[in-house]
Amino acid sequence: MDFDDWITEDVKNVLLVEPNFPIPNKSRNHSNFLPIGLLKIAAYLREKSINVKLIRFDENNNLDLAQMTLDLTPQDDFIPDLICVTSIFTYWSKYVKNAVFYYKNKYKNVPIIVGGIYASLMPKHCKEYTKCDDVITGYIKGAEEIIPAYDLVDVDYQILHTSRGCIRKCGFCGTYIIEPEWVCKKTIKNEIIKKKLIFYDNNLLANAYIENILKELIELKKEKKITYVESQSGFDGRILRKKPHLAKMLKDAGFKNPKIAWDYGIIQAPKIKEQIDLLTDAGFNAKEISVFMIYNYEPCYEEMEEKRVKCAEWGVQITDCRYRPLNATYDNYSSYKTKGQSSEDYYIHTKEGWTDSKIRKFRRNIRRHNICMRHEVDYHSSILERKKISQNQSQKYRNMGYDEVKKYLPDAWTPFRFHDASEKDYFKLEKKFTEK
Ligand code: SF4
Repeated sequence: MDFDDWITEDVKNVLLVEPNFPIPNKSRNHSNFLPIGLLKIAAYLREKSINVKLIRFDENNNLDLAQMTLDLTPQDDFIPDLICVTSIFTYWSKYVKNAVFYYKNKYKNVPIIVGGIYASLMPKHCKEYTKCDDVITGYIKGAEEIIPAYDLVDVDYQILHTSRGCIRKCGFCGTYIIEPEWVCKKTIKNEIIKKKLIFYDNNLLANAYIENILKELIELKKEKKITYVESQSGFDGRILRKKPHLAKMLKDAGFKNPKIAWDYGIIQAPKIKEQIDLLTDAGFNAKEISVFMIYNYEPCYEEMEEKRVKCAEWGVQITDCRYRPLNATYDNYSSYKTKGQSSEDYYIHTKEGWTDSKIRKFRRNIRRHNICMRHEVDYHSSILERKKISQNQSQKYRNMGYDEVKKYLPDAWTPFRFHDASEKDYFKLEKKFTEK
């Protein structure tokens, strides 16, 4: 059934549920995690004079199958006629299942429908695994033009889409399944209600009317109606190279922290450099630019490390994303498990030689790389970062370059060199140093 088929005359109250995804409370309202689909549905239903209530769990409410006594609805006078549960990553499906289970027990005969990314990518799995009454795939077209119900959340920004779908079909990306139709808006100025804007387009620059959209933003910025603009996804570098004037328009429109994607091998380096140059020539500072990279996929660790070193030479940060297959239904990777995990815990792309230790090593390299780029320094040391030595000594070391400081700080790490996966981990070196 379509979403609208569930909105019958008898539906007066709709409960909107964001499951208890493992998002730290401090990131809950971050633009990457806002349940924008539910906010759009809320506004859409309100237009039909239907009451809505949004439930957002938090990390203190450990909702799982064993905790059926948890009561998260303080106003029990809100008895829903329909429950809509959202979903995000396929590997967070168990949280969706838990939410459905909980509400199936709480409101015995109320239908529960599930939408969102996991539901759209794996509708059959979602229906069978969560035991919901229906799965809604894709987005609700009728809710597309409506301003989401931001009053239900506490945020100072708004999320916008100027397009749906994508003109490309990259092997690791499910956009073509979730949003199969490529649709572009010509204008968005009438949708803007906040000064801070986050674009959720999959491929913003591919919008056929991108110049018009950017012109609108430039005008709004001049009139001081907007102050901050960001694109959640990376910019499509191929389009940027074909239409270099867009770089200046992005800058003039007030875009911050631009990201470009480097999805394939080191062979692409000259093209990526060209894209970065376009952005820096337009006035973006290299250290605010981030190169979006998927790791634990293709290429292997060694080539990813080469790519990282190139980024260091260009002075740009890296936004890393650990690859999981589109149909991965679990991911128990834990960054705290220093003793390591296996493919039973999470997906490891062994085909390209990735291992648990290479994944952890690469992740740590990225963290240290980004610190160095942000602070424009040529090394990182945990001993310094964690203030394990006196202030005087620390000051002395901070004035030294990597080659010199290496004699004193064994854990000093420079982003400008290739780091082998077998290299000793900095925390072991740091531990040894502090135990001396
Ligand atoms: S360009 Fe981006 S959104 Fe489009 S298919 Fe590739 S990864 Fe997905």
